[in-house]
Amino acid sequence: MRDRRKWIVRTEKGNHVSLIINPLLRPHLTTLAATVTAPLITRFAPSPTGYLHLGHVVNAIYVWGIARALNGRVLLRVEDHDRIRCRPEYEAALLEDLAWLGFEPDFGLEPLLRQSDTPFVYEKALEGLRATAHVYACECSRKDIGGERYDGRCRGRGLKVATGRGIRVQLGNDMEKFEDALLGRLFQLPAEQCGDLLVRDRDGHWTYQFAVTVDDLRQNVTLVIRGADLVSSTGRQILLARMLGRRNAPVFLHHPLIHDDLGEKLSKSAGDTGVRELRSSGLSAPEVIGIAAARIGLVDPGMPIHASEVSRLFEQRVLPGP
Ligand SMILES: [Zn+2]
Repeated sequence: MRDRRKWIVRTEKGNHVSLIINPLLRPHLTTLAATVTAPLITRFAPSPTGYLHLGHVVNAIYVWGIARALNGRVLLRVEDHDRIRCRPEYEAALLEDLAWLGFEPDFGLEPLLRQSDTPFVYEKALEGLRATAHVYACECSRKDIGGERYDGRCRGRGLKVATGRGIRVQLGNDMEKFEDALLGRLFQLPAEQCGDLLVRDRDGHWTYQFAVTVDDLRQNVTLVIRGADLVSSTGRQILLARMLGRRNAPVFLHHPLIHDDLGEKLSKSAGDTGVRELRSSGLSAPEVIGIAAARIGLVDPGMPIHASEVSRLFEQRVLPGP
């Protein structure tokens, strides 16, 4: 049997850290409150590339739970920078499911905050980067690169920005050191992990790394709460934020993920993991939230939790690290 109590974060080559997240671990709220630059603003930022599933519910539990426990605010942001995979019907469904679950954002809902509505914001940020960093066109495909790390082969070629070419920014060799609010101190070297960051891809879309870093800066997100699969992106986002002029990086908290029966992170809703399917099977919203919380060991199975009460999961047992 797979041990559900071990949550290993896989990180790419060059970042030889395996993290095991103890499900009993809770963020230390007093420390967290003291670490985050006021005001505390966190965000729930789904991509409309599919329906909501229990993995999203776990994230919502952490986002709303910690924000409410610390009198912070929750921003809703629709991350639809990927114009090929995002669909309006998924966006409508995720808003409807979120409302059904009972998670209410403090802002970002009306008017809806969507990345695709503000392309000029990213253009402007790119112009700002050009002033202070080496930004260049790159014509390499994923196949050309052959892995996650880009070796910078177009850096000195002086290619013109053109259709079919991506845009990258050169990264310095700085070691990024940060305190994850759940995992403790982490070290990452983005130049070795990923190489020069892709800002816009060859199809002309802003990349995830660039769009979220720009958004977290302009929306003054001071606490980023997300799944542990994104921990390896953190150093590069902190570095990029600094290059974009951000003085205080947000505090990051990476939480455990629900894995499917094969041990992979849930990426699509299906069967017993989709919020829509669970709704249509007759479960109530508190029951669905309870299932998600139990799947990562926050509560014992069979305990319904109302969305307005998720902060209690973090206020009750504040435990030291493993
Ligand atoms: Zn290239």
